[in-house]
Amino acid sequence: LTGHLLLEHPILNKGSAFTEAERREFGLTGLLPSGVSTLEVQLERIYGVYRSKTTDLERYMHLTALQDRNETAFYGLLSKHLAELMPIIYTPVVGAACQSYSRIYHRPRGVYIPYSQRHNIDEILANVGEADVQVIVVTDGERILGLGDLGIGGMGIPVGKLSLYTVCAGIHPSVTLPIVLDIGTNNRDLLDDPLYLGERHERIRGRDYDDFIEAFVAAVQRRFPKVLLQWEDFAKNNAARLLERYRNRLCTFNDDIQGTGAVTLAAALAAVAANRSTLGDQRIVLLGAGSAATGITSQLVTALQAEGLSEASARSRIWLVDSQGLVHSGRTDLEPFKREYARAVDETVNWQVSDRQSITLLDVVKHVHPTILIGTAAQPRAFDENVVREMARHTARPIIFPLSNPTSKCEGLPADMIAWSDGRALVATGSPFEDVIHGDRRIRIAQCNNAYIFPGVGLGVIAAQAQRVTDSMFVAAARALSEFSPARQNIEAPLLPGLQTIREVSRQVALAVAREAQRLGLAEPCTEEELSRRIAAHMWTPQYLAYRKPRRERSRLAG
Ligand code: NAP
Ligand code: MN
Repeated sequence: LTGHLLLEHPILNKGSAFTEAERREFGLTGLLPSGVSTLEVQLERIYGVYRSKTTDLERYMHLTALQDRNETAFYGLLSKHLAELMPIIYTPVVGAACQSYSRIYHRPRGVYIPYSQRHNIDEILANVGEADVQVIVVTDGERILGLGDLGIGGMGIPVGKLSLYTVCAGIHPSVTLPIVLDIGTNNRDLLDDPLYLGERHERIRGRDYDDFIEAFVAAVQRRFPKVLLQWEDFAKNNAARLLERYRNRLCTFNDDIQGTGAVTLAAALAAVAANRSTLGDQRIVLLGAGSAATGITSQLVTALQAEGLSEASARSRIWLVDSQGLVHSGRTDLEPFKREYARAVDETVNWQVSDRQSITLLDVVKHVHPTILIGTAAQPRAFDENVVREMARHTARPIIFPLSNPTSKCEGLPADMIAWSDGRALVATGSPFEDVIHGDRRIRIAQCNNAYIFPGVGLGVIAAQAQRVTDSMFVAAARALSEFSPARQNIEAPLLPGLQTIREVSRQVALAVAREAQRLGLAEPCTEEELSRRIAAHMWTPQYLAYRKPRRERSRLAG
């Protein structure tokens, strides 16, 4: 490698931290300012520039430029300032970055698979080079956060998610691969934008779409037979369908469904434990009945069954409300997932409602008296004062999770949830929020962040070499996370741990997931010590290694 190539390779580059000996040995003398910085000093310099940025989008661009130049410094900076920087590389700011993708684009990252190249996917994956890819995150850009169809701009999501694999669980960046399937977009603004970088046609649908996905998965299996494939931000119908189609064929999961289910279950378990109650005693209402709700309900039902309930009685604790109102058996428009949770229409005959065709969230809250209210509908402020006050009238500590992202889509601001329940609500949100001051209390708001789950799940799957990812592995992950909840000791404390503990959380999640994989016979059994050792061996910490040329080459140079 000549010096120039070292400086241009983000995994190998150390910038001003190359030592004098390395500069001599690799032909870098004179290509860098003569001062040699440690990683610490570099981070101080980079952070100083970062702090001078005035908009979130500039902050995002500053961080991605750093990532493209020097990944060690990028992850060093993220680790050091995680609570401050995570909202930039992930929700909410990553949403704005995806919306502006074709306007702020400066350098490729990951793999772009356009529909027009559907016969060349093997070749595209070969172009990745010799990398030993262990985790792929893929999107088709159709449902980016709660922002809808962003076409090729969706690429920001796989990139951000994989950064979290590294910073939260230590998965080495060189074994991760973000992919966007560029099958067009139905977003008019993008199609009309001369700067748009994706394919300019309507989304491919139906049989052609399925054939394309099939070609993609088959090519991935040929090129990376053991890879963990994470589906991210697909539209509702495709998300559930593709998960069902592929979950028994390769090592794969959908984070919007399963990861969301697990982190929400962890927060719910912590909230009921803090309340000295049980999950079986709850009445749970969900606004939104899409991917996130699919995952949340399925994890809740599994956990309720573990408490001894039958599947039917577990389901009877749950009410779903979608864009047409309460999901009930009198409706003819229900998709299969919703049918499983449809309430018997008889239940509502005595309800006082203004429109029997469309029973609103407020109607449901009035008649059901939920103890847990969860929002995954991307409907800003849907948890309004009437809904929250009505809920709070019937339960001592209402558990309220407005999960929609980014912040602009949140169903209810934590300050409102707390004010309207006279300080009694136990709140967790999808995007991060400031502390809420209520009287003389300062209430910290837990972020129901999938980053507590999926990086540890990936780490456990990789370390155990699990062949499949199951729902029960996510329940194991949820229980491991829930143990970290500060609210278990003190109901005033947040429902989930702070981000400063996230590597330890990921390690314990990985252990739980790996053990569950072994229990299911999906991974070779090994001792507890061996498992811990393997997990530790996969947890990279950003630091510079000393570089030397191989001895043979050095003596040749000397001779
Ligand atoms: P999705 O699959 O598109 O589902 C959205 C659901 O919202 C659909 O069931 C839709 O109803 C329903 N909906 C739309 N308008 C509504 C209205 N006016 N009233 C009631 N329901 C309405 O999306 P998703 O993957 O579930 O994600 C939804 C949101 O959750 C996004 O903002 C996402 O960022 C957030 N999320 C948060 C987390 C987290 O906090 N950890 C994780 C995942 C997702 P129909 O079925 O009738 O169309
Ligand atoms: Mn997602």
